[in-house]
Amino acid sequence: MSRSIESVAVVGAGTMGAGIAAASAAAGCRVLLLDMNADAVKAALQQVDQDAQHLVTTGTVETDLEAVSDYDWVCEAVVEDLTVKRELFNRLELIRKDGSVISSNTSGIPLRHISEGMTPRFRADVAITHFFNPVKVMRLFELVPGEDTHDDVIAAFAEFGDKRLGKGVVHAKDTVNFIGNRIGCFFMLSGLHLAKPFLREGMNQETVDAILAAPVGLPPTGLYGLIDLIGLDVMELVGKNLATNLPQADAGHAYTAFPPAEQRMHDNGQLGRKAGGGFSRQIKLDDGTRSKETFDLLNETWRDALPGALEGAAAELGEVIFEDSPAGELAWKVFGGTLRYAAGLVPEIADDVVNIDNAIRWGFNWVHGPFEMLDHLNPKRVIDRIHREGGQLPSMLAVLEQAKAASFYRNDGSEYLGFDGEYHSVDQAVN
Ligand code: NAD
Repeated sequence: MSRSIESVAVVGAGTMGAGIAAASAAAGCRVLLLDMNADAVKAALQQVDQDAQHLVTTGTVETDLEAVSDYDWVCEAVVEDLTVKRELFNRLELIRKDGSVISSNTSGIPLRHISEGMTPRFRADVAITHFFNPVKVMRLFELVPGEDTHDDVIAAFAEFGDKRLGKGVVHAKDTVNFIGNRIGCFFMLSGLHLAKPFLREGMNQETVDAILAAPVGLPPTGLYGLIDLIGLDVMELVGKNLATNLPQADAGHAYTAFPPAEQRMHDNGQLGRKAGGGFSRQIKLDDGTRSKETFDLLNETWRDALPGALEGAAAELGEVIFEDSPAGELAWKVFGGTLRYAAGLVPEIADDVVNIDNAIRWGFNWVHGPFEMLDHLNPKRVIDRIHREGGQLPSMLAVLEQAKAASFYRNDGSEYLGFDGEYHSVDQAVN
């Protein structure tokens, strides 16, 4: 059966549901938007472009759920709670029409837990469609099939995400936090721990952020700035989910709990921008101007923000990680550690390097994905350093070494190195 998505029923009109509904309406689709809370739907409708509002029908789960039968894609975007999602899916399954496709926007609940014991029709038609927040801005769209999901269902979601919504489709597997957040959260959580010795040696937090930004091809938020944006409350939940669901030998286990000072910040409600301050805050001075303060993690008090110091850091993208300096050591440990972590996740979380690179560029706005960055740095240099330090090569660096290959991509990026040690067409990996 070939499927096509022309209309979308979104259930759950919070941050994500509102964004998915608005994006679908902007793409010209008929949209149904339901929530258990009528006020949430009203607020969500405000996010839909004026000229697309006529495409959106709204209602509540209590009174209007039957209307779902008239839509091609039923997209669940309610709270992150397995029991709530399963109850809702059981009801939706009785209503939705044959030929429709159904998905969850969960950021962390495994699809196998959602679909366990569900009907064969549900199991054939379901996927995870993981958008990033804000939906309108973020390009990444992770698509995760379940054990029994039919190929035509995944093809329909991929086509819709790519052609109608203009998103970057990434094919992920049903593993904890999928691709973007598995690697992005490793960077953040490991960073909190690995930066600590540098702070104790006198590096300030502003400098940590400055090094883990443009010098290695990351956005200007750096480490602490990025976590301030996301919130320590969200990061704590992510850490707990990782602690439960990461494979036993995964390097991420060392970092799933916050260091003590960050845990105290969390417990005191000092969560980040949404709470008026986290690692930094803006304060209003008596003369009406604003001033930026940094929460000093060593003595746990606020102080005036300082400029980040980058003197002496190599100007060439990424070169800092090979520098014999505190900045170089920090970049190698935190950013280089994230590259090594990512390089060990094929084939566990994705079949190929291409989907991992796309997820990190589109979901976290890195200049280069991890494997593109390794190519930029020259993988041989990174391999030599790991050998010198007595470390173990992560899976894809071992594949590259064994295949005597020089890079993960060749022929102007049209071919990538597979887990089998052979080069393949990039086009095949993204479709
Ligand atoms: P939210 O809290 O903003 O909204 C959830 C909405 O679901 C609320 O309006 C609530 O009234 C409604 N709801 C709860 N139970 C319901 C039910 N049984 N029936 C109908 N509506 C119900 O949450 P959100 O941030 O939009 O997250 C939604 C989903 O998307 C979660 O699974 C979350 O993990 C995932 N997600 C969130 C983000 C993010 O950054 N916020 C990013 C990616 C994925």
